[in-house]
Amino acid sequence: MSEHHVSHYLCIGCPLGCRLEVEDDGTDIVEVRGWDCKRGERYGREEHTDPRRVVATTVKVRGALWARIPVKTSGSVPKAMVREIAKAVRNVEVEAPVRLGAAVLTDVLGTGVDIVATRDVERV
Ligand code: SF4
Repeated sequence: MSEHHVSHYLCIGCPLGCRLEVEDDGTDIVEVRGWDCKRGERYGREEHTDPRRVVATTVKVRGALWARIPVKTSGSVPKAMVREIAKAVRNVEVEAPVRLGAAVLTDVLGTGVDIVATRDVERV
């Protein structure tokens, strides 16, 4: 008989912060406990098998009032790639004006996810 293992996660789906327990048998998830809604159950499964994060950072901008503009990934990326992605974005420089939602870098490191501006920046 295979040994069961329980991992603990904090659901970040809402401010309630339910404490999740994910039990696996070494191969598959047997049960997710501690959630208060289905979103939490999904989060527990994903966090256990394929943890992902949205990355928020800034990039340099030329011709604007500010030196940098805030950006984020257009979707979640594998948690293990967060540092590498932040490093890749560090070298990006854009020219104002920039519109909210505009891609400043597409398909970052082959993830299929873009880096997009999270605010409008006017040219000065
Ligand atoms: S399980 Fe549901 S209610 Fe609990 S923290 Fe996650 S999203 Fe919120």
